[in-house]
Amino acid sequence: MKRRDIFKGLTLLPLTGGVLGGMLPSGSAAAEPPAPKRDFFKELGVTPIINAGVTMTFLSGSLMMPEVLEAINSTAHDFANMYELQDKVGAKMAEMLQCEAAMVTSGASCAILLGTAAAITGTDAAKIKQLPNLPGPRPEVIMQKSHRYLFDQAVSTTGAKIIEVEGPAEMEQAFNANTVMALFFNAAGSSSVPHEEFLAIAKRHQIPAFIDAAADVPPVENLFRFQKMGFDLITFSGGKMIRGPQSAGLLFGRKDLIEAAKLNHSPHEAPIGRPCKVNKEEMFGMYAALKSYLERDHKKEWQDWLDRISRIKSRIETIPGVKGETYTDPGPANAFPCLRVSWDQQKVKVEPEDVLAALKNGTPSIVANMAHDGAEKMLSVGVVLLRPEQVDIVARRLKEILHKMA
Ligand SMILES: *Cc1c(COP(=O)(O)O)cnc(C)c1O
Repeated sequence: MKRRDIFKGLTLLPLTGGVLGGMLPSGSAAAEPPAPKRDFFKELGVTPIINAGVTMTFLSGSLMMPEVLEAINSTAHDFANMYELQDKVGAKMAEMLQCEAAMVTSGASCAILLGTAAAITGTDAAKIKQLPNLPGPRPEVIMQKSHRYLFDQAVSTTGAKIIEVEGPAEMEQAFNANTVMALFFNAAGSSSVPHEEFLAIAKRHQIPAFIDAAADVPPVENLFRFQKMGFDLITFSGGKMIRGPQSAGLLFGRKDLIEAAKLNHSPHEAPIGRPCKVNKEEMFGMYAALKSYLERDHKKEWQDWLDRISRIKSRIETIPGVKGETYTDPGPANAFPCLRVSWDQQKVKVEPEDVLAALKNGTPSIVANMAHDGAEKMLSVGVVLLRPEQVDIVARRLKEILHKMA
């Protein structure tokens, strides 16, 4: 923290103790004892959790990058016109993402809602006002049967009907006058119509193609891949590995569709996206997160993750019968390395489920996951969301628990 910032905050602090009481410290290197930190977790009795897993909304997504917190804190003091802010943040992000247009949404789910709404209404004010209760037949969104997932509820929320297809021929057949969009779920296990063919068919019918790649960085290249392929709309979550605000996301692609999506969103009072408001700080924060993510040394970050895994692995392998292995998820979602831990059940007499429970119920509370390799159950210990000092805490707790059973 800069001295200037400390002084700026002075009026907000109770002037306790001698340091701030009479005299302001002089000299830039004065050791100022940190003000006693207000512990909101404690105040509310909420358990802080160490996330040795992957980004999960129920575990509050990700931890924001320092740059994001800086953007949030440093912009909170002034008002901004939200139309202007969304436009300017969007223009900058579009430049960074090498696409026509971009906007900040309240997460990828909101992006799916707004993208669908945009495809239905365009910039027609009457339609925007009426959505989801448009007169006439319901708008239709085409999806592959194997791509149906929980998040397509955001499509249905607009009143659109999802038409399931399997294979290129069925997809070709499904288009009619009510079709407004085709949605591709990038991390679906299988696709009967692969990306390129999906795009070719949608283009032939002049229908926008939307791809949900919410959790699909790393690799960072994915942030550029789908606009190059020809998708008209693309979403990524802001609060996963991009490490922006949990309640922010990216929607980007074709300019006319982004303009229509904005008309369906807050700060307009009436449209379907109004309940998905994004605040000023989240917009600045999302911008800062994207910039920081694109500028990061991804090779170095990956190596750091491998080093973390080695550190935990070498600690727990001192227990006879315990084995650690680096496992890299093939993705597209959560495509990063983690540590898989298994053990000889003759030597360490405990089930993986019980170790998970002990980690979770211990202090500090640590959440890890189960993994399966064929019939074999094992622990999956994630390292990418740990703060640096938490790597050793996870190693120590894991070792303690396994050791007790050995
Ligand atoms: C996480 C996720 C979402 C929802 O994203 P939010 O940013 O939490 O709204 C949507 N689709 C997929 C594939 C996801 O992984």
